[in-house]
Amino acid sequence: MKIAILSQKASLYSTQRLKAAGEKRGHEMQVIDYLRCYMNITAHNPKVIYSGEPLEGFDAIIPRIGASKTFYGTAVVRQFEIMGVFSANASQAISRSRDKLRCLQILARRGIGLPVTGFAHSTKDIEGLLDIVGGAPLVIKLLEGTQGIGVVLAETKQAATSVIEAFRGLDANILVQEFIKEAGGMDIRCFVVGDKVIAAMKRQGAPGEFRSNIHRGGSASKIKLTPEERSTAVRAAKAMGLRVAGVDILRSNHGPVVMEVNSSPGLEGIESATGVDVAGKIIEFLEKNSSTGSNRDRIQ
Ligand code: ADP
Ligand code: GLU
Repeated sequence: MKIAILSQKASLYSTQRLKAAGEKRGHEMQVIDYLRCYMNITAHNPKVIYSGEPLEGFDAIIPRIGASKTFYGTAVVRQFEIMGVFSANASQAISRSRDKLRCLQILARRGIGLPVTGFAHSTKDIEGLLDIVGGAPLVIKLLEGTQGIGVVLAETKQAATSVIEAFRGLDANILVQEFIKEAGGMDIRCFVVGDKVIAAMKRQGAPGEFRSNIHRGGSASKIKLTPEERSTAVRAAKAMGLRVAGVDILRSNHGPVVMEVNSSPGLEGIESATGVDVAGKIIEFLEKNSSTGSNRDRIQ
C-alpha cells in the first residue's frame, strides 16, 4: 500500500515509528506536512498539492494533527476523504474529539461512565453549580487547558467558590467535576485500534499530586484492564467515531469513568511502558480496512 502520514514533523517519535512500521510491512510510506499542502475545492478531480506535485495513488492516510492546527489539518484530511482515500481517523471524528465538552456530552448520551460534571461560563449561581457535583471536594478545570494546567482540586466549598470566581473573571469556559479520590492520582490510558484495546498503561502522579500527567512528574507502567474497562474504552472511541484513539479513564468506586478521548494519542509513552508494537497494530488495521472503509465516512 501507499500510505501518507500527515504530520508536521518527520522527526517526532510517533511519526518515525509509524513510518518504520509501515516500511517493515512492505508499504510505501510518506510523511507529509499538512500545513504545507494546498487544495483545489472542486467537484471534479479534487487534489491535494504538496511541494508543487499532486499527492496521488494513496491507499490510506494516518492523520497526526496538532491540537492547535485542527482547522486546517481536518480540511486536508477531508480532501483526502473526498478523493476516496481511507483515513485512520475521519476528519469529522477528529474535529469532534477536539472539543472536550462536546466529547463529554456525546459520551453521556451513549451512557458511558463519566465523573459527575457541571459546565458553566459566567454563572452567578455558584452554589447551584457546586450542588450539581455534590459539593466539595471537587475538581475545577478550564476547558481550554492541557497537560494538567488549569486543573484545580478544591477541598472545601469556600476554596471552590473563590476559584470559580477567579475563573469567571477570565471569560473562560469552566468544568466542575466530582473528585474521584479513590483513583489515588492514577489514570489509565487505553490505546484503542478498531474495536480493541491493543495496549494500556497506568500513569501515576508524583506523591501528593492528584494529577497523573507525565508533564507534572507522573510515571507510566503497564496495567491489566478489567473487562469493563476494556469495553468502556472501546465504546468511548466508537461513540466519538474514532478508529484510533487514546481513551483516558479513572477507576472510580462507581466503575470506570472516562476523562478524555484523544484522536492523536502519542506512541512513545505507551510503547515504552507496555512493549507493544502500537505503530505496527495501526498499520495492520489499515491493511485490513483501507479497501473496504473508504466510503464509510460521510463528508459533512
Ligand atoms: P488535561 O487534559 O490538562 O491533562 P485532565 O482533565 O486530563 O487535564 O486532568 C489531568 C489529570 O488530573 C488527570 O489525568 C487525572 O489524573 C486528574 N484528574 C482530572 N480530573 C479528575 C477528577 N475529576 N477526579 C480525580 N482526578 C482527576
Ligand atoms: N500530546 C500528544 C497527543 O496529542 C501525546 C500525549 C498523549 O498521548 O495524550 O496525544
